[in-house]
Amino acid sequence: MEYQTSIPMMNGHTEPNSKQTTIVTKEWSINGSPKALGTINPIRRIVDELNLTPNPEKVMIPLSIGDPTLSGDFKPCKEIIDAVKCSLESGSFNGYSPASGREDARQAIADYCSSYGMTVNSKDIIITSGCSHALDLALAAIAIPGCNILAPRPGFPLYKTLSTLLDFNIRYYDLLPENGWQIDLKHLESQIDDNTAAIIYNNPSNPCGSVFSRKHIIDFLEIAERNRLPVIADEIYEDLVFPGNQFYALASQSSEVPILHCSGLTKKFMVPGWRLGWIAINDRKNRFGNEIRAGLNALSQRIIGSNTIIQGAIPAILKNTPKSFFEENIDYICNNAMMAYRRLKVVPGLIPIKPAGAFYMMVKIEIDRFPDFRNDLHLVESLVSDESVFCLPGNCFEYPGYVRLALALSNEMNYDNESQRNDNRPNDYNRTTVKHFEIFTQDGDRLLVNIHQHHRGKIFEFGLYANFSV
Ligand SMILES: *Cc1c(COP(=O)(O)O)cnc(C)c1O
Repeated sequence: MEYQTSIPMMNGHTEPNSKQTTIVTKEWSINGSPKALGTINPIRRIVDELNLTPNPEKVMIPLSIGDPTLSGDFKPCKEIIDAVKCSLESGSFNGYSPASGREDARQAIADYCSSYGMTVNSKDIIITSGCSHALDLALAAIAIPGCNILAPRPGFPLYKTLSTLLDFNIRYYDLLPENGWQIDLKHLESQIDDNTAAIIYNNPSNPCGSVFSRKHIIDFLEIAERNRLPVIADEIYEDLVFPGNQFYALASQSSEVPILHCSGLTKKFMVPGWRLGWIAINDRKNRFGNEIRAGLNALSQRIIGSNTIIQGAIPAILKNTPKSFFEENIDYICNNAMMAYRRLKVVPGLIPIKPAGAFYMMVKIEIDRFPDFRNDLHLVESLVSDESVFCLPGNCFEYPGYVRLALALSNEMNYDNESQRNDNRPNDYNRTTVKHFEIFTQDGDRLLVNIHQHHRGKIFEFGLYANFSV
């Protein structure tokens, strides 16, 4: 149906009698929710600001990414794949599960957590869509609008990302590089006030690659207990510790402090894309009361449960994965880490902090030693434009002056000199890449930390160039 309308002319007069369809005077206006727009991923915010144009002559080497599957060399083992195949082919896992997870899957996870010394049963487990979802639910269950939550610095940027929508403030407590990134316990305690709702704890650490000793864990728990604060323990790198270190689940060390242990398959089982994580509610003295438990269960309804195919596979994954799978992965990452550490340590101006687990190493940049670079962000940019090597700047982790290297990269065997390369080597893993780190002194004072990568007969190089005065 058409209406006779008057159309306003450009000159402001109105032309009568022109035939027109309805004029809708209301404009489209869809505003983004302020909370959505205010949600920031610190990595994106910082990285998007950088000028990252790789050297076209050199293959990009992303030392930035904590996804061990990217290089193609860390693969889930046969037992894990078989478990998922079985789950899929059975046809039994196509429907919804209870929002907090299938009972048999929760039981399997509870048993697995118990093997780390936690005292939990199936009703203490909430299955989530990855560990980040576990953290989201844990924080949402505890954070009262306007409260503050303590988080490590340097630390995983997701904690900050979650704070906007959940309406809590982050207060950072420092980790001490000179003490293997242990928590500065005095500083931690000084950050607590009446508005503090919980402490986020991360061990082994991303981005530090550190692993806490049992003594340090107990000292930390004492502070939580004294201040009557629950802990959200991000232990997604559980057990990814190098030989000589031991992982202690936080909740195994206290029967007093209520702890939401957050973990999942992502890192230890090397399947980040499978999106399967969990919360284990550790609350032996019932300090959470009913509310936190009820809140977590209610929140799990928001996505009506996590992926059921993987839930169907969980009991077999947790039971059947051979120890050797984990051991080989750890050896491999540890070799990478130690080689990188050794090589970088001798470079004046670079101070790598020796990692003890997880996939990462932080390297301090004494920027005064690098007159070619204005600051550490400039150094990161230059590494990309000169060498096509990308490390994340410490700013992404609230820690300027450092870069983070991801170490879970392809590296068939860790020979760091030519002569070793022809040794007989075990062929247990189907890896095609040999990489090694080398350092040259050139032109007297020009030092090149060079990381050679040999890949199918070709040699790729990447490194840090630095002019420095000795
Ligand atoms: C990778 C990572 C996570 C997220 O794990 P997903 O299971 O992929 O969600 C959580 N915490 C830390 C410290 C991580 O490094």
